[in-house]
Amino acid sequence: MRYCRFQLNGQSHYGLVESVAGRDSILRILLTPPEESDGDVEGLRTRRIEPIPLDEAALLPPVRPSKIVGVGRNYRDHAAELGNEVPKEPLLFFKPSSALLAPGGVVRRPKISERVDYEGELCVVIGKTCHQPPDGEDVRPYILGYTCLNDVTARDLQKKDGQWARAKGFDTSCPVGPLVTDEIDPWAGVGVETRINGAVKQQGNTRDFIFSLDVVIRYIAQAMTLFPGDLIATGTPAGVGPVVAGDVMEVSVEGVGTLRNSVVDE
Ligand code: MG
Repeated sequence: MRYCRFQLNGQSHYGLVESVAGRDSILRILLTPPEESDGDVEGLRTRRIEPIPLDEAALLPPVRPSKIVGVGRNYRDHAAELGNEVPKEPLLFFKPSSALLAPGGVVRRPKISERVDYEGELCVVIGKTCHQPPDGEDVRPYILGYTCLNDVTARDLQKKDGQWARAKGFDTSCPVGPLVTDEIDPWAGVGVETRINGAVKQQGNTRDFIFSLDVVIRYIAQAMTLFPGDLIATGTPAGVGPVVAGDVMEVSVEGVGTLRNSVVDE
């Protein structure tokens, strides 16, 4: 199943995304948020609407998470490019919900920073409450689906502050979307690519994670309960770099689509 959130006549809706003549379109509205389906997304009731092409819809961030958990340095080549050791355990941080930005939204480089970087990532959307799953239990039933996330980072503040709250948490630093799909398999490997003004800057594959999604989800859920709708930003491959006002950032995850956001100065 693939779904998005969008605005229509001043109201927000969840839309089922289907391919019509090769073009992704919203044909039906989901009457229950998929995060409230408790894993039974196929059983959700829907209502037909006049078809809206996905690229013409007023998209919103596809979920409303209680928290966004980030994993730092989860690709060897990215840890190396910043001169960091490969971590022995997942390195976690938060992004606040106030940082969320819709597909097509504008990232505002904050005045408090002189260097803001893109970080294209695969994002996990949790579908079922997850608290300390026992070792060996399959974590896949806890996953509702996957989307694209740009873990926009004020690199200078990250170095200066120690804690990453400002660096990873400023307003607009968390573009997410355009849709959530359960039709890809990160364990088998999916491509993650970032382009700036059309030029390819990052090309990774989830096969190259240092910590698999099993390890990441288990590690997080040992400490904190994951709720439906919560997001996990799974780390970025090598090739991070700064953006300036006027740049257009595109994060593509194979089988999901492209998350596109432009940049301005605050
Ligand atoms: Mg990141």
